[in-house]
Amino acid sequence: MAIAFQLCRIPISTSTDLFLPETFSLRLRKPLSVRCSADDSSSSITVDPDFDAKLFRKNLTRSKNYNRRGFGRKEETLELMNQEYTSDIIKTLKENGNEYTWGNVTVKLAESYGFCWGVERAVQIAYEARKQFPEDKIWITNEIIHNPTVNKRLEEMEVANIPIEEGKKQFEVVNKGDVVILPAFGAAVDEMLTLSDKNVQIVDTTCPWVSKVWNSVEKHKKVIFLQKFKYAVSEGFDPDRDLVKVGIANQTTMLKGETEEMGKLVERTIMRKFGVENVNDHFISFNTICDATQERQDAMYKMVEEDLDLILVVGGWNSSNTSHLQEIAEERGIPSYWIDSEQRIGPGNKIAYKLNHGELVEKENWLPKGPITIGITSGASTPDKAVEDVLFKVFDLKREELLQVA
Ligand code: SF4
Repeated sequence: MAIAFQLCRIPISTSTDLFLPETFSLRLRKPLSVRCSADDSSSSITVDPDFDAKLFRKNLTRSKNYNRRGFGRKEETLELMNQEYTSDIIKTLKENGNEYTWGNVTVKLAESYGFCWGVERAVQIAYEARKQFPEDKIWITNEIIHNPTVNKRLEEMEVANIPIEEGKKQFEVVNKGDVVILPAFGAAVDEMLTLSDKNVQIVDTTCPWVSKVWNSVEKHKKVIFLQKFKYAVSEGFDPDRDLVKVGIANQTTMLKGETEEMGKLVERTIMRKFGVENVNDHFISFNTICDATQERQDAMYKMVEEDLDLILVVGGWNSSNTSHLQEIAEERGIPSYWIDSEQRIGPGNKIAYKLNHGELVEKENWLPKGPITIGITSGASTPDKAVEDVLFKVFDLKREELLQVA
């Protein structure tokens, strides 16, 4: 699950705290807005520059209206999730060393794929919340995870999204006593502040990996947090003036190689500017890729070495970690199709898929004729059931092909 890439900077100015060697104690130039959500919508309040986000979070987590551990209904909700999201096909693959042949289709499943611990935990706590508060209005500040099936399921359970108008979340709809779920990738501090003021029951499903990144960053706080990579160059940014002390904390779901390259690029720039001997006073890089992301990427690197006709990457089109799985296959030049559900396949031998940078492509005759070997993997927000549905579609197409030949 992703949190925002952040480039932390301070201006060269007369401020005396700029050159303290042991600290990244920086001076604020703008109101602090800390976000770890994947979307660009926001609440309408502005947080005071002197607002202590860390202290606020600490106090909030201790309040009686806050829950991040669930409600003692883990077993029953996990059972329900098993019924809804697991797959017999995946079970067969796992029982056979991640490889199995159905008809003329051999499927190789990546060693690590699908629901990560953080996602499973978030969904499970959301399910618990519904059971714990059967009669209450329940809201969620964003998609719980980046998967359409799971998000739809929560809608069916009457967990409502906070409406957005002109890019702003309409927190007016939330009333005292309502329950509000914070999704796996967390919520912005300004949103949490709004909810705290409204005296609602907050159920926080934020992945502990995401929280860990924020804790690391907040240790070096009083910086301007740029919300997403696209904002890394902000208006008026002057590297000569502004690039003095830099910290890099990346999304938990970034591609490791890219992250390292970016870190090295900034580090080299800082070295050139201040000298190799002074780099530690001006540059810090946090290792914030989560284990689940790393394991799925490693498994993908392994899978692209196999003899495959094509690869299917299943996962939400707004899922950062899934896009990087697709990227690995694209880099190796293997035909690879990133789809968010089986509905992208058909009619007939046609597929609509995304490239890792988000471009939508439609392709006819994407499944080669005759016996084929396909690799398959899925992003950290993708239930096994979604992978199974995709495979069923492939089997159906290959079965039709055989019938036409006969
Ligand atoms: S374990 Fe990683 S991929 Fe999964 S929710 Fe947490 S940060 Fe995201």
